[in-house]
Amino acid sequence: MKKILKYVGIIIIILIAFVLFKTFTFKSKQIKEAQVPLLKLDDSCVVHLQKSIQFETISYDDPKQMDSSQFKGFQQFLMQTYPLVFSKMTLEKVNNFSLILHWKGKSATAKPIILMAHQDVVPIEKATLNKWDAEPFSGQIKNDFIYGRGAIDDKGSLISILESAELLLKQSFIPETDIYFVFGHDEEISGFKGAKVMAQLFADRKISPAFVLDEGGIITEYKVPRLNKTAAVVGIAEKGYQTLELKINIPGGHSSMPEEHTAIDEMAKAVVKLKENQFKPEITPIVKSFLSYIGPEMPFISKMAMANQGLFKPMIISNYAKSAAGNATIRTTTVTTIFNAGLKENLIPGEAQVTVNFRTQPGVSRQDVVDHVKKVINNDSIKITPIGKGNEPKQIANVDDPTFKYIQKTISAFHQNIIVAPYLVLGATDARYFGNITSQIFRFSPFTDPEGFHGVNERIKISEYKKGISFYYELIKNYKP
Ligand SMILES: [Zn+2]
Repeated sequence: MKKILKYVGIIIIILIAFVLFKTFTFKSKQIKEAQVPLLKLDDSCVVHLQKSIQFETISYDDPKQMDSSQFKGFQQFLMQTYPLVFSKMTLEKVNNFSLILHWKGKSATAKPIILMAHQDVVPIEKATLNKWDAEPFSGQIKNDFIYGRGAIDDKGSLISILESAELLLKQSFIPETDIYFVFGHDEEISGFKGAKVMAQLFADRKISPAFVLDEGGIITEYKVPRLNKTAAVVGIAEKGYQTLELKINIPGGHSSMPEEHTAIDEMAKAVVKLKENQFKPEITPIVKSFLSYIGPEMPFISKMAMANQGLFKPMIISNYAKSAAGNATIRTTTVTTIFNAGLKENLIPGEAQVTVNFRTQPGVSRQDVVDHVKKVINNDSIKITPIGKGNEPKQIANVDDPTFKYIQKTISAFHQNIIVAPYLVLGATDARYFGNITSQIFRFSPFTDPEGFHGVNERIKISEYKKGISFYYELIKNYKP
């Protein structure tokens, strides 16, 4: 007995030593960069963003509702405001409203880079109009914030990119390699006419960029749990989108003599089964990568868990699962969004129909989702039909590539002690279409804790916006292929 205890003791000591060793050798992946001074910008750049917001470049679910005059006006405004950009670069319009600007660089052979932003914005929900502190399309300034739909998503980036380019052109700057600005006009309704077509154009022309930078990640002071430092999260992949319709037909009848099974009962059972048998949570390669960048910067206990992911896996997963965003990061999510059945209080409906939306992990295909649903509901009388176009992005950017390091360096040059980390973007971006021409797609806007995008009081702090211009300025100026 004593002997066994002795062995157990030795094993525990070895295990503790191993865990501590891994914790103490868990090296920081952060880059110490010399801080660059911010550009001294006068307030004309602020006026430009304000004016850009005043164009109601709204994307509606029904594309027929599009007000093309707003887009035309917006583009005219861009041409007047950035004369050097529009005279020195080649402009190509795609499907009338999407824009590609081509800035010729010194090298004809080096891979170009692509900077993206979209021109369109989401509509304002009527019911929320009175909750805004400023008119949503006014671009009004209040307490050092520029208010309005698009201030963050995504005119903040679009105008920052153009401000920085105009400034560089004024200084007769010529980039080392070709640069493309790609400004879609229908990102908010899936980018079918804009980004999708433009990505195909690049593919047809055999242009393969070193990297693409689009919206997605942000800088945050508080959104990474247990990290008491400012972090910049850079999207290296995004989730896919699949919707299925489930339908069942069972003869209904009068409610005075119900049969054993009804359409509603069966469908309700299926919905509950799907809820209770979700896709398995996983510490995916993207999560691993995120933890390896964030972990070394955390307080000791968290750092220990991150350094020993294998051992602490259940703890890490249960921590992630606690929040909606965390849960969405570690699994393909399932949620029923529409449930239709029944018309009359005393009539058993013969049909029930539900719509279930899945946000898939990179690499999970539409067929995988259908197979999962079939297996879980295990009911052949329910017909499963994919609806909508969906998407299944597979591309994951390589963080060991110099292009990721370059983005990381550029961010670190503006913020002392910032923690940069790769992560998974939960929504969809226009950049996903470019997965065919490069794996190095990054999703990041250089703004800190932006508020109100897609909601009420969308706004950007003037100082953040100006920092954004400096970010794109340095990113373009210092890039060497
Ligand atoms: Zn956006």
